[in-house]
Amino acid sequence: MKILITGGAGFIGSHVVRLFATKYPNYQIYNLDALTYAGNLENLKDLESLNNYTFIKGDITNEDFIKQIFKKYKFEAIIHLAAESHVDRSITDPLAFAKTNILGTMILLNAFKNLWKDNWNDKLFYHISTDEVYGTLGTDGLFKESTPYAPNSPYSASKASSDHFVRAYGETYNLPYVISNCSNNYGPNQFPEKLIPLFINNIINNKVLPVYGDGNYTRDWLYVKDHAIAIDLIFHKGKNAETYNIGGFNEWKNLDLVKLLCDVMDEKLDRKLGSSQELITFIKDRPGHDLRYAIDASKINNNLGWSPSVTFEQGLLKTVDWYLENSEWLQNVTSGNYQSYYDKMYLQN
Ligand code: NAD
Repeated sequence: MKILITGGAGFIGSHVVRLFATKYPNYQIYNLDALTYAGNLENLKDLESLNNYTFIKGDITNEDFIKQIFKKYKFEAIIHLAAESHVDRSITDPLAFAKTNILGTMILLNAFKNLWKDNWNDKLFYHISTDEVYGTLGTDGLFKESTPYAPNSPYSASKASSDHFVRAYGETYNLPYVISNCSNNYGPNQFPEKLIPLFINNIINNKVLPVYGDGNYTRDWLYVKDHAIAIDLIFHKGKNAETYNIGGFNEWKNLDLVKLLCDVMDEKLDRKLGSSQELITFIKDRPGHDLRYAIDASKINNNLGWSPSVTFEQGLLKTVDWYLENSEWLQNVTSGNYQSYYDKMYLQN
């Protein structure tokens, strides 16, 4: 089977590419990635010698290019992860999110439809999406697959829109698809603009830890390798035209998570317990900030037998160890444009 994985040089994509390329030597894995600031081929260096793995550099919004590679490789399945993925960036540049996340997804859907519309047998378009499409929860309740969409940020609106287009292509053209909506991921290879790697990097460098508002925003966290395992299961066993919610059964208030991370880092760096907590600084809230996300993952649990394989404490330790052992990776991605972006986003608040 020829599988196109988009966004495979990014955080989650790199784990999905590695899992598929190593677990299924009979599949041909094509990783299409534009290598934006978030894409990094260092994440996949160990796969370069594999015969069943090919990297293609390219932009999903370039329709002519996408048409060409579909004609050339005749992909039979697509796992679509390529996206602009950071909420804060979507607030400063919403159009970039509409372009990649909506238009890019449509260009892929169209190319797939035009290639296989007379023979959908054993084909699949798998769209990787987020729980943020559901908007915000109050202090109780969980997102279910039936929860109505109510996105609040330009990022989540663009992902909601692309989910709708995938579904619409299924209804209109019989395109076989599945969608999964996952909670916040953490783990190795995550670009240090997202909370956990940003704070690990700041603690290492004794920089302030900027916490939005009062720190009471609540998120569910899942170790990225458990997300990749869920994607493998859904790809092979998920039902056509269905959505699966994926979550860690693991809710944390941001401030509590940051304090836990500070304690883990203090132990690792051999500092006095509590000393990194002194770096916590409350900053002006993010506009349209969703109060709470929490996932009801009982469908994937009951139907496909999936549940997270590591606890949050185990996953966080693995993550911290990875960033400490890969200081060169961290230095490389935080040099250059990173610093000016960081200063603009978090220090002028
Ligand atoms: P990421 O930002 O780390 O990686 C995105 C990748 O897509 C990068 O490698 C980038 O180079 C590539 N890309 C961006 N624009 C492109 C374009 N126009 N053409 C080709 N490639 C392009 O993102 P991530 O955190 O790994 O997220 C991957 C997917 O999973 C996204 O669709 C995101 O919405 C979804 N998701 C993420 C999370 C999370 O917590 N990170 C949770 C749920 C769902």
